[in-house]
Amino acid sequence: MIKMVDLYPQYAEIRAELDNSIRKIVHDSAYIKGEEIGELEKNLANRLNVKHCVTCANGTDAITLSLMAIGLERGDEVILPAFSFAAPAEAVILLGGKPVFAEVDSSTFNIDLKSVERLITPRTKAIIAVHLFGQPCDMNALMSMVRHSDIKVIEDNAQSLGSICIMDGNKRQYAGTIGDIGCTSFFPTKPLGAFGDGGAVFTADDDLAERIRALASHGQRYRYTHTYVGINSRIDTVQAAVLLAKLPLLSHWNTMRIEAADRYSESLAYIPEVKIPKKSLFATHIFHQYTIKVSADMRDPLRVFLNKAGIQTMVYYPTALHLQPAYRNICGRDADLSVSENLCDSVLSLPIYSHISGDTQNNIYSHIKNFFKK
Ligand SMILES: *Cc1c(COP(=O)(O)O)cnc(C)c1O
Repeated sequence: MIKMVDLYPQYAEIRAELDNSIRKIVHDSAYIKGEEIGELEKNLANRLNVKHCVTCANGTDAITLSLMAIGLERGDEVILPAFSFAAPAEAVILLGGKPVFAEVDSSTFNIDLKSVERLITPRTKAIIAVHLFGQPCDMNALMSMVRHSDIKVIEDNAQSLGSICIMDGNKRQYAGTIGDIGCTSFFPTKPLGAFGDGGAVFTADDDLAERIRALASHGQRYRYTHTYVGINSRIDTVQAAVLLAKLPLLSHWNTMRIEAADRYSESLAYIPEVKIPKKSLFATHIFHQYTIKVSADMRDPLRVFLNKAGIQTMVYYPTALHLQPAYRNICGRDADLSVSENLCDSVLSLPIYSHISGDTQNNIYSHIKNFFKK
């Protein structure tokens, strides 16, 4: 079976170093709040060229903590994409806010800023820009749109850590460091993956950073002084050690995935029924997912055909968020979300990971070609 991801080769590259540091943590029994955590935060902030990094338990908590830190209140509206993972919408609702779903662009799968503009009201507290599948949103345009307002921009960078946005005057800035707050996840399959869960928040703002750090630790600014009503959200020392060992290889592994995506695109471009993913002009795409589009009537049969040939594929995402049973009656939305709805019927993500071989990809390509030949 060709699986969507094979993470073992990444471990093989860092095995000696990582086994040593895990052994040390076990020896010292410093499972919680070990020194590796502070080191990881420092290295991540340096790597992404941003002032503050605060780690937490997972990417969903990173978003929740960000919304708490900006002071989201009951009834506040948060604009976010309808074609996306559910975590940001869920965080908004659990804090008493109202998600307002915007349309996405059919070729980049990212939030459509014209739709965002239509949805802004005096109650809009924040916009969550999800950088989907490895490619950032148009942050330049988004930041100009909110420049003269109090609306906060939170970047959900769970899928695009290490990708770069080309801002005004050709300034290159890492995705997740441009809005007021950036969030990421260290779920094992994400660009920087732990051996379990983990997450982090990035910001240039001293106040927000301090508040997020306290909120993640039961609201404590000082031990046993609970300044805020917070949560308990921390990364394990072992996970921090894994990420510390992997971080120096992040851009190498991202480049390997970009090369794998280019190999797919070079061959798949010759199959007229397949639309290959588009790279935008204003950002780099690190291909957390390689997502093709085919006509809605062909998508599921292609998936079944590939599965029978031993090739796993995934549909990210099969249902738009405004149509989800838990959200549909409590969300706001743009009137027309047909692009998001249609994408759910036509997208298909193929196996991609840093160490996928050209031979494996050729094999996958041949089966896709055979499917459409019939
Ligand atoms: C993975 C992911 C999250 C949530 O991360 P967890 O660490 O699983 O909580 C949030 N948003 C997006 C876009 C994701 O892909």
